[in-house]
Formats: sequence, C-alpha cells, structure tokens
Amino acid sequence: MTFQGLHFDPVRLPEAAERLRAEVRAFVAEHMPADYLPNSDFNEGHSPEFTRALGRRGWIGMTWPAQYGGGERTFFERYVVTEELLAAGAPVSAHWIADRQSGPLLLRYGTEAQCARYLPGIARGETYFSIGMSEPDSGSDLASVSTRAEAVQGGWVVNGTKVWTTDAHRNHHMVTLVRTDPGGDNRHAGLSQLVVDLHGEGVTVRPIRNIAGGEDFNEVVFEDCFVADEDVIGEPGNGWEQVTSELSYERSGPERFLSAFRVFVEFVRAAGPEPDESTAALIGRIASHIMTLRKMSMSVAGMLQDGKSPAVEAALVKQLGNDFEKLVPELLRLAPPVSVGVAGSALRRSFEQTLLHSPSFTVRGGTREILRGVIARGLGLR
Ligand SMILES: Cc1cc2nc3c(=O)[nH]c(=O)nc-3n(C[C@H](O)[C@H](O)[C@H](O)COP(=O)(O)OP(=O)(O)OC[C@H]3O[C@@H](n4cnc5c(N)ncnc54)[C@H](O)[C@@H]3O)c2cc1C
Repeated sequence: MTFQGLHFDPVRLPEAAERLRAEVRAFVAEHMPADYLPNSDFNEGHSPEFTRALGRRGWIGMTWPAQYGGGERTFFERYVVTEELLAAGAPVSAHWIADRQSGPLLLRYGTEAQCARYLPGIARGETYFSIGMSEPDSGSDLASVSTRAEAVQGGWVVNGTKVWTTDAHRNHHMVTLVRTDPGGDNRHAGLSQLVVDLHGEGVTVRPIRNIAGGEDFNEVVFEDCFVADEDVIGEPGNGWEQVTSELSYERSGPERFLSAFRVFVEFVRAAGPEPDESTAALIGRIASHIMTLRKMSMSVAGMLQDGKSPAVEAALVKQLGNDFEKLVPELLRLAPPVSVGVAGSALRRSFEQTLLHSPSFTVRGGTREILRGVIARGLGLR
C-alpha cells in the first residue's frame, strides 16, 4: 500500500518464521525467572540469566553473519521471536538495545575488527550496550549535541554529559554521539559515533530515579575520557547519517505498541469467556488496534529484510503505536465492571506498573511531536 511517500507492503510471515512461535513459548515457560511479574515493556525486566539462555538458543543477533556469532536467520524469524518474548512479558532489557540497534549499526558501519570484538559477546547474551544520544540541553534536537571529542595521539578525548541513558549502570558499552568538529553552518556535519567503555576511566554513571521509583536510566558524565581511534564507528564526521539510520531499527519493532500488552492479557482473563457487551466492545477495539499496528510493523520488518531504510514508515508505526499503548491503561481504568481488578491481583499489579511507566512511551526513542514532524516531511508536507 502506498500513500504519497509512505509505503507499506502487505506481509505474510513465512512458514519457517511461524514455526518458531511454539519454540519460543516453550523456551519462555522453561526460563521465565520465578516470582517475576510478566511485563511487556522491553525496558523493564533485566535478567542476564534469561538473556544468556536466549543467546545459547541462538535468538540474539539472529540475522547477523555466522562469523560474528549470528544466526543468519531472516528479519521475519527475528520478528516472531521478539514479538513472542514481549507478548509473554519476558525480561529482555539486558540484550535489547545491543541486539536491536548497536549490533546492526556496527555491522553496517563498523570495521571488521569492531564486529569481531563486540558482536559475538552480544550474540551470546553477555555484552550489553546503551544509547548515548540525549544530553541535558539536547534531546529532540539531536544535532545540537555538545559532548565534544578532541583528536589526540591515537584517539579522542571526550568531555560532556549524556542523560536518560537507559541501563548505563549495568551495561558494558555505549554508542556515543559526539561532536568531533564544529561543523560550521551545516549542523549535521562534524558529528561522530564512538564506542565507549562505560566502566572505563573518565566515565561517571549516576542513576536517575523514575516516577515508578525505579532506577533504570542515568546521567553519564565524561571527564577527559580517552577513546582509541579503533573505537570510532564509521567515518569521523559521518555521525548524523549513521545515527539517523540507527533510528529505523529503534522505532519500528513490536516493542513500540506492545508495552501494555500484559495488562490487556490480564484484563481479558479477568473478563472471562462471556464478557458483557461494553467489555467485549472494548476488548475488540484494543485487539483491532494491535492487529493493524502489527501488520504495519511486520511490513517494516519486510523492508529491513530487503535492505531498505524505511525511516518514515518506522516513525509512523512508533507514533501510532506509542499513542495506542499509552491509551490502553487509560481505557481499562475506565472500564466497568472488570476495571483494573482487586488490589494485589495480577491485573492490578500489571496495570499499576504500566500506568506509571506509560508517560515515557511517547517520549523515549523520539517524542510524538518529533515523529509527526518526520512523518510530515516524508509526506512532503513540510
Ligand atoms: C524511559 C526513557 C528512556 C530513555 N532512554 C534513552 C537512552 O537510552 N538514550 C538516550 O540517548 N536517550 C534516552 N531517552 C531520552 C529521550 O530520547 C528524550 O527524552 C527525547 O528524545 C526527548 O528529549 P528531551 O527530553 O530533551 O525533550 P525536549 O527535546 O526538550 O522536548 C520537550 C517537549 O518539546 C517538544 N518539542 C521539542 N522540539 C520540538 C519541535 N521542534 N517541534 C514540536 N515540539 C517539539 C517535545 O516533543 C517534548 O514534548 C529516554 C527517555 C525516556 C523517557
């Protein structure tokens, strides 16, 4: 389907991909940590044990070349695995960013040596990455980053501050967007991406408490942090092109509309096999949104499979998906008679967790307004 600049091919998952579903469900049933409240928000559950088991099963780096520990599977097979993990509410945050975007970024722009150094550990579920884009005065307007890297003998010295850095306190490396050159009139010139060791000298990680009382994101401060030339990704100065291509991976996956899925599952369970008419209508409304978003997201997976860069379509999936997943707890809250369950029930606990995190759904990975701007540009409206 094409709408003035937007393109969504209908996609049917191949048999080989569909067959994986049962395998993933069996895997989750075996490896889900005891006493863990399933949560479909990819950011929530951090379990190195679960992630390592997933790595042993060959389900991290699934599409990557075998020489770097990858599985050489299709994007559709990866889609099924990620979708099933999220739907089950498995703890996936440890490997999520490295698998979704840092690894693919290195494969596309990194050197052979970088791929050999970082990818096998990611695929084993042992090496975790953070995203170092946002800064205290630079979130939506990424081109304004002011963390600087100055050229010295054999590498670069980094000074500046990143903020909202998810899991920097427990990840190993961070792909960090820095300014290596003033750039002059072209704001997009002079940016570069570096792989920084989060436990290295000159790096301080400070936790930031979120509204739910958790500490999953951080401030990361660089003070004369040395990064060797061999850890520059791609060409110095090419950071803008690289960082924007990375965002297609970041924005289109099922994690952009399934964050509230477990609350929905618990709601349907509590409603029982014969819900009253208004509850049934609500369930139908939510399910039809999920089905549509899923088709759009799978279509983007198809384009990634074909080596395309569907940045505008990815932005559309994320924007619609985030609005939807933010609306789910609100709709359920207003739904008598099942409403959000009794205190202590699985429905109530899922609901409370999701409601507290839902304000972040339309902010992380690019805000609603910024995505609408990207879509408008893609449609030729600005
Ligand atoms: C849970 C969570 C995890 C995150 N993890 C990471 C991470 O791991 N790494 C990372 O780098 N960042 C991360 N972020 C940061 C996130 O990407 C930024 O918060 C986001 O890009 C917005 O930037 P900002 O907070 O500086 O807001 P601002 O850019 O200051 O925006 C404030 C408001 O103004 C609006 N606005 C800004 N510019 C425009 C414009 N031109 N037109 C219209 N409206 C505009 C925005 O939409 C927003 O509503 C995370 C954020 C959250 C909530």
